Amino acid sequence: MKCPFCAHNETQVADTRVSDDGDFIRRRRQCAHCAKRFTTYERPDVSFPSIVKKDGRRVPYARAKLQASLDLALRKRPVSTEQQDSAIERIEEKLLSAAARELPSSRIGELVMRELKKLDKVAYVRFASVYRSFEDIDEFRALVDEVR
Ligand SMILES: [Zn+2]
Repeated sequence: MKCPFCAHNETQVADTRVSDDGDFIRRRRQCAHCAKRFTTYERPDVSFPSIVKKDGRRVPYARAKLQASLDLALRKRPVSTEQQDSAIERIEEKLLSAAARELPSSRIGELVMRELKKLDKVAYVRFASVYRSFEDIDEFRALVDEVR
């Protein structure tokens, strides 16, 4: 890495430390030319898009919230924690591969519905009925017919 002080091409790592919470690695580097020291941080290159809510507010993506909605939909349903975890992983992969800086919350809703439809029909209907907040019984009936 180039020295930020004299632009010399050779710098050496003098010290490497993992942060207390393990989120990043901190390296002290020293320039081979001017001997000045500087610090670099190494972090995993994953960043989730911000989620844009219906009212226009932007919130950071939170796995805990996704987990909570799945927990609620899958309550007392015969779906293992492993199955649920891999559903969350598939949703997160899609969020990351969207490579967008922000995504509407409805996009997550659609991804959750797609996963639940595969996992458990009852959970799917539970989630969809809350998520789509049906106006009338016919809309709800159409959804139930769809999974039958
Ligand atoms: Zn230098």
